Amino acid sequence: QLSLEQVVEHIRWSEGLVPAIVQDVDTREVLMMAYMNRESLKLSLESGETWFWSRSRQELWHKGATSGNVQTITSLKYDCDGDTLLVEVKPNGPACHTGAVTCFHNEIIGLPEKSADKASDEAGAASASASSGSESRFEVLAELESVIAERERERPEGAYTTYLFDKGVDKILKKIGEEASETIIAAKNKDNDELRLEVSDLMYHLLVLLQERKLPLDDIMSELSRRHERPRRD
Ligand code: AMP
Ligand code: ZN
Ligand code: ZN
Ligand code: ZN
Repeated sequence: QLSLEQVVEHIRWSEGLVPAIVQDVDTREVLMMAYMNRESLKLSLESGETWFWSRSRQELWHKGATSGNVQTITSLKYDCDGDTLLVEVKPNGPACHTGAVTCFHNEIIGLPEKSADKASDEAGAASASASSGSESRFEVLAELESVIAERERERPEGAYTTYLFDKGVDKILKKIGEEASETIIAAKNKDNDELRLEVSDLMYHLLVLLQERKLPLDDIMSELSRRHERPRRD
């Protein structure tokens, strides 16, 4: 832990400012970039919430002051050459004033299909490689959850999800058992193409189960995030 004076010393201020990248500590999404001056850095350290310097308004800016979407700081780092800050936060709501979770929702160009596959292979299954497009992988899950809820309400004819809900919970549980077995087989066969499909099937059926049991996906996410916060012994 450095004192504010020491931190200020380590930073290479550019016209009194330093860019601060704000990242969600749980989802690892990059949320926004804004500038800090010495005063906003001091306020951030003292309050444990993000404060910036607004260049357009020429004033100190407590993120969330009007929107309520404050960001609680969990860590603050400067980079190797001290010209950028990285602020890890737990956001209380969307970071972007447009209401988007992250300010980085304007995709200019994606990786060509092939290199995207390669990059995510290299990143490995355990790491947090973002899905293609501007959506985060968690948004995909949340969207799937709401589609499943809609299917349960409206029971559109011919939809597989409708079929599952019509058959009832025993059918859903049986499918989870099957998909789990298929996941195991794919993993044993070291076949990652197959594993990707089977894990997707398994996760979809788990979401159908959660909907059937009226257990929100959010509760699972919170549980996982709580576990992640505790000091781990492994
Ligand atoms: P807030 O700090 O969330 O209460 O928002 C107050 C004002 O700050 C907004 O009306 C925007 O002008 C600006 N603002 C909020 N979030 C951002 C952001 N992520 N990037 C740039 N400007 C922002
Ligand atoms: Zn470096
Ligand atoms: Zn740097
Ligand atoms: Zn924004």
